[in-house]
Amino acid sequence: MRSYQSWGRYPHVEHTGVVPFSWRTAPPDLASVPGSVLPFACGRSYGDSCLNDRGTLLDVTGLNRFISFDETRALLRCEAGVTLADILALVVPKGWFVPVLPGTQWVSVGGAIANDIHGKNHHRAGTFGSHVACFELLRSSGERVLCSPEINGELFRATIGGLGLTGVILWAEIRLKPIPGASISMERIRFSGLSEFFLLSSTDQEYEYTVAWIDCLARGKRLGRGLFLRGDHAPGAHRTPNGLGRTIPGEMPSGLINRATVAGFNAVYYRSQLRSTRRTIVAYEPFFFPLDGIANWNRLYGQRGLLQHQCVIPEPAEESLTSMLHQVAASGEAPSLAVLKRFGIIQSPGMLSFPRPGITLAIDFANRGSNTLALLERLDAVVRDAGGAVYPAKDARMSPASFRRFFPGWESFARHVDPKFSSSFWRRVNAGQ
Ligand SMILES: Cc1cc2nc3c(=O)[nH]c(=O)nc-3n(C[C@H](O)[C@H](O)[C@H](O)COP(=O)(O)OP(=O)(O)OC[C@H]3O[C@@H](n4cnc5c(N)ncnc54)[C@H](O)[C@@H]3O)c2cc1C
Repeated sequence: MRSYQSWGRYPHVEHTGVVPFSWRTAPPDLASVPGSVLPFACGRSYGDSCLNDRGTLLDVTGLNRFISFDETRALLRCEAGVTLADILALVVPKGWFVPVLPGTQWVSVGGAIANDIHGKNHHRAGTFGSHVACFELLRSSGERVLCSPEINGELFRATIGGLGLTGVILWAEIRLKPIPGASISMERIRFSGLSEFFLLSSTDQEYEYTVAWIDCLARGKRLGRGLFLRGDHAPGAHRTPNGLGRTIPGEMPSGLINRATVAGFNAVYYRSQLRSTRRTIVAYEPFFFPLDGIANWNRLYGQRGLLQHQCVIPEPAEESLTSMLHQVAASGEAPSLAVLKRFGIIQSPGMLSFPRPGITLAIDFANRGSNTLALLERLDAVVRDAGGAVYPAKDARMSPASFRRFFPGWESFARHVDPKFSSSFWRRVNAGQ
């Protein structure tokens, strides 16, 4: 029996029903479903944007068929429940690659569009939505609408980053990119603080992929230290097992991820390379999806789950980031994984897309209740003051006022929401409207 939780396992909600989708040509009659509906795919969103408390979920994972691949135009058409893992397995041996990949391959095409996801190549490629040629959208009236930048362009822009609220994407066509092989030539560079991170990021256009890990518990002179990763596609057929080899058995105690275990891990990881720069050729999977090696790693956080705070801060961002890292290190909370990256200037196509020029910082926290929530609200305040935004796909608690500040296009977007569709996230950020 499938469980319908988000990746952070917070909040806990009760769905009144689940309606499976099996055939794109014969979808269920949505108008006859009682209450509100929301598509649910792989549940890799962290918070409540993929949940619909006291409503119905539309399980779209049955829409898992490839439709066509036009190699001359690099256009792959598939149903929206096909995962990026499925696509990579099919196309990498033929010399093609998915144009934008998140930190896990267990994400569906529909989910990638609905959150307009970004990856380590944002500075060169923009978001996933920038590579979508067209899709078919099912509205609750039963109408099917073909959307592309030219045809029904407004609905196209509302659906990209539209959090599943404009209808069900039945299938989509995405533009792939050619690669010389399945390997990545990678450099890992140790940096001692934020200023060095900015220096390294200033050359990011020379590399296809860049991202940095930072030690969120480091304080004083070590604040903002970390490891900078950059890489390019390389020839070679490196293969590693497709992740998910190891699993976390059953439930783990909630206190397992704490400041002591995280500080120990961070210190060892930071010093894991003796030289300041290391160059290697690796298979693409561990480069893009280091966490996929352990299935259900989210269970390490116990039943209370985890919260991620991912924001983007317009440049110059050093002061705001320093303030956030100070607050995190001094908070007594347990920030486990922190990632930093400079977004590029390619405009995201969606009305509600999160990526915009600036520095994005993502930090995972064990959920320890009101203290954790209070810290995240303080981080939101820094983001608001800096004119940045927090990522809905990772969020379970931002306030309605913050949402409106972060997404000034929300009113134009709201006009395209299907009246039958809703989510826990959408009701929360519209509370009091
Ligand atoms: C380890 C990890 C790393 C991650 N790294 C990144 C990253 O680097 N960059 C990034 O941007 N994100 C990242 N994410 C977040 C993830 O990419 C997004 O949350 C993605 O949208 C999840 O897709 P899903 O298939 O799991 O969709 P779900 O989480 O099930 O749903 C996400 C949204 O899509 C909607 N939806 C799903 N299918 C359809 C459909 N067919 N039609 C219409 N709407 C639909 C849902 O209603 C919901 O609003 C990461 C997540 C994890 C767990």
